[in-house]
Amino acid sequence: NRQWVLRQRPKGLIQPGDLELVEGRIPDIRESEVLVRTIYLSLDPTNRTWMNDSEGYLPPVGLGEVMRGLTLGIVEHSRSDRFKVGDLVMPASGGWADYAVVPEAGLRPVHRAPGLPLTANISVLGMTGLTAYFGVTDVLKAKAGETLVISAAAGAVGSIAGQIAKQRGCRVIGIAGGPAKCAWLTDELGFDAAIDYKNEDVGEALDRLAPDGVDLNFENVGGNIMIAVFNRLKVHGRMAVCGLVSSYNATKAPPSPNFARIITHRLNVQGFLVLDYAPLAREMVAEMGPWLSEGKVKWKVHVDDGLEGAVDSLNRLFTGDHDGKLLVRVSEE
Ligand code: NDP
Repeated sequence: NRQWVLRQRPKGLIQPGDLELVEGRIPDIRESEVLVRTIYLSLDPTNRTWMNDSEGYLPPVGLGEVMRGLTLGIVEHSRSDRFKVGDLVMPASGGWADYAVVPEAGLRPVHRAPGLPLTANISVLGMTGLTAYFGVTDVLKAKAGETLVISAAAGAVGSIAGQIAKQRGCRVIGIAGGPAKCAWLTDELGFDAAIDYKNEDVGEALDRLAPDGVDLNFENVGGNIMIAVFNRLKVHGRMAVCGLVSSYNATKAPPSPNFARIITHRLNVQGFLVLDYAPLAREMVAEMGPWLSEGKVKWKVHVDDGLEGAVDSLNRLFTGDHDGKLLVRVSEE
């Protein structure tokens, strides 16, 4: 049973020695517990924030503890009446390990979506889809005709959120790094425009593409990209602060927008956490499922093989060197 253990708190990108891959025995299970073999480990930008000793929405991972992570696995031993060997499950609190012992109360059953690979359950029909769906429909309350700007637009959440906004009738402008990602947004996903922040000035591009200003901002990045969008929000503009990925490895405070605009433009700025929407997953699947099968919403996963490479894989999220929702295949389905 290989496990990634946090040894020291990273400064910047994770370096060798910050985490260690250790070998342990497969633990025994007690009454009402199951042994879950990890199939997929979801790597998410927020994993990096859990390594810091700072106040967050979850306690930091402790030094010497197994790194926390969302997983999808299969029951290999069971002393539960509710889960049997062979059931696909998602532990509420998974980890970067081959196996996990989980109490039955901490397990959600996984139902394969007809016609879709299992990776859908841990991406577009899982937390990623939930974040995108409720970020657009509930936090932003996006309406037809509104102009929505989304950052990290070619990423897992961003690409889905932008397509949902299109389904709602918005004009969608995505911000992403590099010509290939931008071309995917406009040519394949139907975004109205894309801004390559690595090769263009975001503010100038927004002035050209949205000369009357921006109604909605689905913010995934923070820093100067966010400031450029924020400074173009219209009166009564709305902003969903989903993530600030540009600052997760930062060693000093990122630049901030001038909050005076919130007053002068009567902006509605709201942060949100997908965890609060978990009970509404069925509502998302009910609308997203048909969009996926009809090809109205497209999605990609980037699967790296092997738990041993998880640290290098996680760093991809901060260089952009991945193509779709980032997963590690820990074992075969
Ligand atoms: P992505 O698949 O979008 O991967 C992260 C992307 O961020 C990279 O591909 C890269 O894209 C971009 N990026 C990384 N560093 C920078 C930088 N310095 N400047 C600009 N862009 C950068 O990850 P997710 O879809 O999983 O997450 C997207 C955002 O959503 C994150 O901020 C995450 O924390 C947040 N999130 C929030 C949730 C919530 O409950 N509030 C739930 C899930 C995610 P590129 O190549 O274009 O630079």
